[in-house]
Formats: sequence, C-alpha cells, structure tokens
Amino acid sequence: MTNDIFMMNLKMVQCGLPSARTGESREVSDKSIHITDAVKRAVEDHALRERPAECCGLLSGANGVITDLHPLRNEAEQPESRYFASPADLFGAMRIMRDAGKRLLGIYHSHPRSSAFPSSSDVEMAFYPEAVYFIISLEPVVEMRAFRIEGAGVEEVTVSVVDESGSVSC
Ligand SMILES: [Zn+2]
Repeated sequence: MTNDIFMMNLKMVQCGLPSARTGESREVSDKSIHITDAVKRAVEDHALRERPAECCGLLSGANGVITDLHPLRNEAEQPESRYFASPADLFGAMRIMRDAGKRLLGIYHSHPRSSAFPSSSDVEMAFYPEAVYFIISLEPVVEMRAFRIEGAGVEEVTVSVVDESGSVSC
C-alpha cells in the first residue's frame, strides 16, 4: 500500500493523474462506456461553472457504469488552456473511490473554447490508458465526447447515458 501510493505520487508529479496499474482488467468494453444522466449533467455543470478556465475531475463506478464524479481543482499555470489536477484533491478522490469499492473509469476536462477532441498536449499527458478520457466542449454548444488514448493513438468511445438504475435511457 505504502509503495503503491509512493509510486502514484511519483507519476502525479509528472502528469497530475494517477498511474496505470499494469495487469488490471478492463471493466468496460473498448468501444463504449456507460454514464448516469446525473453524472453527465454534473460534469457539464462543472465545466460551465469554471469557464473560462478548464475544469477537470475523475469519474468512478463499477461494472462499466460511471456513477460518481470527483471534481478536482485545476492548478495549471494557464488554466484557460491546460489542466493539472490538484494532487491533494486527487489523493482525496482516490481514497473515497477505494473506500466505496469503486474504480476509476474516466478522467474528464473541459475545452471552454475549442472542440471536444484531445489536443496534442492531452495526448502527450494521457498516462492512464485504462481510463476513458472525457472532453466537454462549451462552444458553440455543450458537447461531451469520450476517447481512449494509448500512446499517440486516439479512438472515440461511444457514451451511453443511463438512468440511476442502470438502464439505457438514450
Ligand atoms: Zn484538453
């Protein structure tokens, strides 16, 4: 445990996000992910609240369904165009997740003035290939898209919005 946290801390210094644990099986298919309607709306609200800065946070759940969000403070020097999650917030969120028996399924941030597609720095900083990267664009309309980013490869993931009971609503 101690070593695990130490290694995570090392990685966070580099990229602001937790490290991928090797050998961990994926809970979601490669091509799609489920998110509750309430969490999707909360992520969009977070993005709108932080505008013109980018927001960022973690998404957790179980069985391939995202049921919780963990907003993190963006401590980037230029938060209008970058995000760097507060390490303190990150540790707190990971602890809450672990205590609740949930797993990290997604990482989100917003693009207040650009499209919902990973920037070159987003791709460079995507050190967690097990997670789905959600991007919320605010202009011209609020739009959420999701991607797997592995190395230089970017592949869009279908987002299915479900109600709290887990059934697909759209
Ligand atoms: Zn970005």
